[in-house]
Amino acid sequence: MTNVLVTGGAGYIGSHACKALRAGGYTPVTYDNLSTGWEDAVKFGPFEKGDLRDRSRLDQVFASYQPAAVLHFGALSQVGESIREPGLYWSNNVTGSLTLLQAAVAAGCLDIVFSSTCATYGDQDNVVLDETCPQQPINPYGASKRAIEDMLYDFRVAHGLNYVIFRYFNVAGADPEAEVGEFHQPETHLVPLILDAVDGRRNALTIFGTDYDTPDGTCIRDYVHVMDLVEAHILGLRWLEDGKPSEVFNLGTGRGFTVREVIDHSRRITNKTVPVIEGARRPGDCTKLVSGSTKAEAELGWTHERSTLDRMIADAWRWHQSGHYAK
Ligand code: UDP
Repeated sequence: MTNVLVTGGAGYIGSHACKALRAGGYTPVTYDNLSTGWEDAVKFGPFEKGDLRDRSRLDQVFASYQPAAVLHFGALSQVGESIREPGLYWSNNVTGSLTLLQAAVAAGCLDIVFSSTCATYGDQDNVVLDETCPQQPINPYGASKRAIEDMLYDFRVAHGLNYVIFRYFNVAGADPEAEVGEFHQPETHLVPLILDAVDGRRNALTIFGTDYDTPDGTCIRDYVHVMDLVEAHILGLRWLEDGKPSEVFNLGTGRGFTVREVIDHSRRITNKTVPVIEGARRPGDCTKLVSGSTKAEAELGWTHERSTLDRMIADAWRWHQSGHYAK
C-alpha cells in the first residue's frame, strides 16, 4: 500500500483523515509531536513522534517510509492563543512548515495537501468568500496559514512541488463509528464546549459576543462535518496523483449558522438543556465566515451530505458519550 505522511495525524482532523486514508487503500504514517494530539488517536497506521521543526527527524521518517505524498495538518489552531502568543504560531506553523517542505523536497516527495483556513480571509463585510477573495487575516493564526500558502506557491515555482490547499471553514462532528473524535485540552471549540455544558463537564457555555451585526447578535460560521472534510483530502490526493495542477479550494457548505442556532440544534439533538452565559466578544473573531464557493464540488467532485448541523451534533454527541472521550 502507498504510504502517505500525515502531519498532525494524532489530532482531531488528522486522525479522521487517517481513517479515511486507510479506507481508501493508503497507509497513513502519523508524524506528530503530541503537543495537542493524542497517541491513542493513532489507530490506522504507524506512529512517528516528532516535531515539524526537527529536520533530522523528518529526514529519517521520509527515508524510512518513502511516502508518496504529505497531508499536512500539524499546526496550532486557536485564534485566541495566537493573539496572546503569536511567536508560537510563527514558530510551530510557519517554521515547522518550512522545515517540512524542505525535507519533502530533499526526499523527492513533491505532492502535498495543506490544511489552510477561512481565517486567512479575515473579516470582510458583504464580500463573497471564494478562492479569489483577497486574504486579509485579522489574527496571527490566519496570518501564519497565509504565510504557508505563500511558501507553497514559491516552492512550486522553484522546486516543482505540487499542492492542494484547502481553506477550511468550521469543522465539527466526529467519526459516526466513534473510533476517533474531537478532544482538545483545553477545549476552545463551540460544539464540544456546548456538549460539555450539556453533560455537566462544565457549568455553562459562554457565548462570545451578542452584539454582532447578525440577526441574533452572535457570530455566524459555516460548519463542515469532519468526515466530509477528510473525504476532500482523499480527492485532493487523487487530484495530485493524476498530475493535475496545484489548486486552492474552500471547504464550506455555503450556509451559515449563528452561535445561538448551534445551541438550539444541540438542545434538540441531545434533548437536554444547554446552560448559557452571555459574555464579551472574543478578540480575533470575525463576524461572519461563510464560503461563497462551489469550486471543490465542481472540480474535485466533493460532496458534503453529512454536513447538516443535526448530523454533526449527533455524531459529536455519540463520540462525547463514548468511552473514548475525555482522557
Ligand atoms: N464560541 C462561543 N463560545 C465558546 C467558543 C466559541 O461563543 O465558548 C463562538 C466563537 O466566538 C465563534 C464560534 O463560536 O463565533 C465558533 O468558534 P470556534 O472556536 O469553534 O471556531 P473558530 O470560528 O474560532 O474557528
